[in-house]
Amino acid sequence: MRILITNDDGIYSPGIAALAQAARKFGEVRVVAPDVEQSSMGHAVTHSRPLSYRESPIAFDGIEAYRVNGTPADCVALGTHLWSKTDVVLSGINMGPNLGNGMWHSGTLAAAKQAVLLGIKGIALSTPVGKTEPDFKRIEADVEKALALLLEDTELALFNVNFPADAKGMQWTRQSVRLYDGKIVPGIDPMNRKHYWFTVSPLEPAEEGTDRWAVENGYVSITPLRLDLTADSELERLLRERPL
Ligand code: MN
Repeated sequence: MRILITNDDGIYSPGIAALAQAARKFGEVRVVAPDVEQSSMGHAVTHSRPLSYRESPIAFDGIEAYRVNGTPADCVALGTHLWSKTDVVLSGINMGPNLGNGMWHSGTLAAAKQAVLLGIKGIALSTPVGKTEPDFKRIEADVEKALALLLEDTELALFNVNFPADAKGMQWTRQSVRLYDGKIVPGIDPMNRKHYWFTVSPLEPAEEGTDRWAVENGYVSITPLRLDLTADSELERLLRERPL
């Protein structure tokens, strides 16, 4: 199995090194990742300038690795173009959760979405980060368990997986859409000019069965996703009530 690894935190993040090591137990691994952090880039692609693809000097312990001066979606488009017959794209392990409405701007998830657009399975992996850096040893067993489960499934699929440390178990979940946690916080720069931070405020409790509920309650959350955003019930109503 050919496994392409990418992320949005950049190729020097400890999260991508942890993922590459976990993935090599399941097949042939290649890393193609952004050269700098691209978090919250969403599904942006670079169309107005060429991209570079350079062998990375950083050691992934014998794993081939390339850095790209582009977005996570660029890395997947380019990486799978240059590595024929890629079976799956794994994106992460993101340093910070990707839950609920956060999925809209997630670069981590966008890389997995880009894989599915190209007909390849895509799996996004993230872990919440507290005041200390995450200890990937504490989620290692769960990452391997989730990969075994999701790589075995032969259906083309898109998954978003979040790993709290020392989880109690795993749950299939749906996306929480109850609360949007993007917040604008005003501040003053060193030159006394007003500026604004777009930030993520602490999450409030979510409804049971959702991705946020699972992680807040100590479970690994696995959400199957789809690319079709059509509101099916709304479309049915409009066809019925307002035929064109
Ligand atoms: Mn990130």
